[in-house]
Amino acid sequence: MKLDLDALRYLSKDDFRVLTAVEMGMRNHEIVPAELVERIAGLRHGGTSKVLRNLLKHKLVHHDSSKYDGFRLTYLGYDFLAIKTLVNRGVFAAIGRQIGVGKESDIFEVATEDGTVLAMKLHRLGRVSFRAVKSKRDYLVHRSNYNWLYLSRLAALKEYAFMKALGEHGFPVPAAVDCNRHCVVMSLVKGYPLVQIKQLQNPDEVFETIIGLVVRLAEHGLMHCDFNEFNLMIDDDEKVTMIDFPQMVSVSHRNAKMYFDRDVECIFKFFSKRFNISYQEDRDEEDGVEYDSEENGRPSFLSIEKSAGFLDKELAASGFTKRDQDEIEKFIEGGPEPKDGSSSDDESSGKEQTADVDNETVTTKMVALQLADQQVKSSYCNDEDRVEENLDSCNVKVVRENEPTASGEQEDSNDLDNSDDDDDGSGDAELVKRLNKQRKRAVAAARGRRALASRNSYKNKGGKSSHNSKIQKQVSKW
Ligand code: ADP
Ligand code: MG
Repeated sequence: MKLDLDALRYLSKDDFRVLTAVEMGMRNHEIVPAELVERIAGLRHGGTSKVLRNLLKHKLVHHDSSKYDGFRLTYLGYDFLAIKTLVNRGVFAAIGRQIGVGKESDIFEVATEDGTVLAMKLHRLGRVSFRAVKSKRDYLVHRSNYNWLYLSRLAALKEYAFMKALGEHGFPVPAAVDCNRHCVVMSLVKGYPLVQIKQLQNPDEVFETIIGLVVRLAEHGLMHCDFNEFNLMIDDDEKVTMIDFPQMVSVSHRNAKMYFDRDVECIFKFFSKRFNISYQEDRDEEDGVEYDSEENGRPSFLSIEKSAGFLDKELAASGFTKRDQDEIEKFIEGGPEPKDGSSSDDESSGKEQTADVDNETVTTKMVALQLADQQVKSSYCNDEDRVEENLDSCNVKVVRENEPTASGEQEDSNDLDNSDDDDDGSGDAELVKRLNKQRKRAVAAARGRRALASRNSYKNKGGKSSHNSKIQKQVSKW
């Protein structure tokens, strides 16, 4: 998927305001009614329609008038929101070429202000339904308000949390740098996926290291579940780095043994095919791990000593909750569908590609992201007026924070950006909070819900001048 960075650089703050409004509307609507976008964004004099036309032109939103006049974010629109937040946070300042096309992701090089090159992974669940298509559909049938962007955000959050925890436990994984929405930023691995390696100096050593990794993961309470030649990178010194974690599960998972055996089998199969090495011999008690002679020298899942609690404790602390885990597991349970217990080889081939070093799919050089809206001064002299005006026109009513929405869901259960923006210390957080409030009011007003507070109580909160300056400060950053 091409990232049109020119569009990103020249989008105005109103463009981002409306884009954010569409994102917020998507918490409750698959297609956000145009009127709701307008109410949340709160631009003057039909300004929102003009902006929406611009966003449509750049394919950042999709227009759907099948049921009513409405919009939804496209992946590109979601990309822009995530990238903008990360640029504002100072995580990176330029985007370079695409270095990988995963099954359900796009990977780009990005560069920090000081020139350090990192990798940015944009999750795109739903793009290629390679994994458990049937169970996905079953799952989605029972979940009317599903949304691919939400699932991609969960996948990114999970990947980031696992990468961080694994790194802290000395596993050879990329360093987790930051995460926003469906986007994970990590260190760049200077190597190639094992699938591209035709020759190794020490295939036995590399093989042992890789099998040792699956075993050590299990000892730490985890199954990779997509452990194969596409997700292992090898550098010039034949050092191994493991990538791609959204499908990992706990050893306590009901299918843990099957996943473990499948991960191990993938590696055995690949090494035997590619390097023509047979590992059938018995090797009891090698490296302290029992190898089961009945399973042709494969490490035995049941004999691995697990240190309990790793997943729960560390990952809950990192912000990826048990609920998130359950939610995403329903969707991408354990990677490729286990058909014959060793299908990963065939399933993956041809579906996961990596851009060749000189086959640049996007751009040849880093494109600096001096976002236009950071320089353009607000054309509005008083943003508080805009908010107030918007509230007037919405006949604003306030919905209690934890009141379930009309769809029967808790307000935050399909939260696209969750608290990602709340702690980034940039103007984004304030704007998102404010737009969020407007969204709640607008949704309530549009649905004619019983007022729980009047707009006067909103007006009365805080002095007008402090409120005013806060908004102006936030808008000048935005
Ligand atoms: P998917 O989940 O879609 O399979 P992956 O995380 O496996 O995505 O990444 C796809 C490809 O992108 C990898 O095979 C690899 O070539 C490249 N890639 C991913 N992460 C990095 C990284 N940190 N550094 C360098 N290349 C990477
Ligand atoms: Mg992969």
